[in-house]
Amino acid sequence: MKLDQDEIVKLLKNKKIKLTPNRIKIACELFNSDDHPSIEEIHQRLLKNGERISFTSIYNIVKLFESTGLVKEIKVGNKSHYDPNVIPHIHFICNECGNVTDLNIFETDHENLQLLINNLISHYTKYDVDNFELNLYGICENCKNEEQGSD
Ligand SMILES: [Zn+2]
Ligand SMILES: [Zn+2]
Repeated sequence: MKLDQDEIVKLLKNKKIKLTPNRIKIACELFNSDDHPSIEEIHQRLLKNGERISFTSIYNIVKLFESTGLVKEIKVGNKSHYDPNVIPHIHFICNECGNVTDLNIFETDHENLQLLINNLISHYTKYDVDNFELNLYGICENCKNEEQGSD
């Protein structure tokens, strides 16, 4: 996901989040990363860019974003990652390096994935699904290559 500042501001306004420079900076960081950063990682990246925002401020802002449904928390062990894509999709979580990546194995977009799951469930049950979380665990390509000693 790549969004410019105007688009980020629009997203925050849609969620009725009061605009502050720090909120805009953190939203920009989140919405322009596709690796589901943790609060610690957001902090490190902002520091690298010369931004002085405390860990606690970042924590509070990300939690505010989460409570309004702007971002979604993904828990891996006792580490929390944050995803700006709140439409249900599949995650692959590496047991070695802990990286969280989106698994796009379908030609379809995420809405179609939801439809696919809904159809499957309604075929076998009378339940209506309106949300789902699907995390797959294993070993990622990078770690696999390292294990095999090839690069
Ligand atoms: Zn890995
Ligand atoms: Zn994701």
